Amino acid sequence: MIQEKLEALRSEIPDGVRLIAVSKTHSCERILEVYHKGQRDYGENKVQELVDKFETLPKDIRWHMIGHLQSNKVKYIAPFVNLIHGVDSFKLLQEINKQGEKNQRIISCLLQFHIADEESKFGLSLEEANLFLSSSEYQAMKHVQLCGVMGMATFTDNQEQIRTEFRSLVNVFQYLKKQYFQSFVPFKEISMGMSDDYPIAIEEGSTMIRVGSKIFGSR
Ligand SMILES: *Cc1c(COP(=O)(O)O)cnc(C)c1O
Repeated sequence: MIQEKLEALRSEIPDGVRLIAVSKTHSCERILEVYHKGQRDYGENKVQELVDKFETLPKDIRWHMIGHLQSNKVKYIAPFVNLIHGVDSFKLLQEINKQGEKNQRIISCLLQFHIADEESKFGLSLEEANLFLSSSEYQAMKHVQLCGVMGMATFTDNQEQIRTEFRSLVNVFQYLKKQYFQSFVPFKEISMGMSDDYPIAIEEGSTMIRVGSKIFGSR
């Protein structure tokens, strides 16, 4: 069942778009079913669950932290996390840099932007991002690398609204690329699109979709 859903989803995803299978709340057994079909990128939104699964599952899995991350918990995932999608403050980026140094790693991150019209969702404004990206403290950081942006659209049936919000994230990406990352090749990712809105996200230029229930069923 899971394997068929994965195959069906994969056939819809064009080259250049990476599928992050969002495995939060699902057991290691279910993850292994998908793993055996070749899926290597998984997303989790809770630190403890991410650590437990990392310890249990094969080591060639690339783990993505997709949820809101508290600074005091960065240390638990810093040794192994592949990509932190939800960097929503400079304070958090500072802590990731510090933990990257302790672990002698460069930790890849995405900046999360607030594109939805819901208060509940996390994310930076462009003003905040401009402020720290132009600071000398940011420029001196050696243990983080910014690879792009992430955002979540409003939970709504209004497809045009979702499209407009994804477009605003693409605009933010293009602006930042031009201002700060023109010659920095790794800054190329736009993480947007979930089970209900990934087709729109792909049309608008997503490079990473984060899909959970469409593969694993409802939580
Ligand atoms: C849970 C979650 C997803 C996946 O949601 P589905 O609707 O199950 O596909 C994607 N991104 C984030 C940040 C999430 O927390």
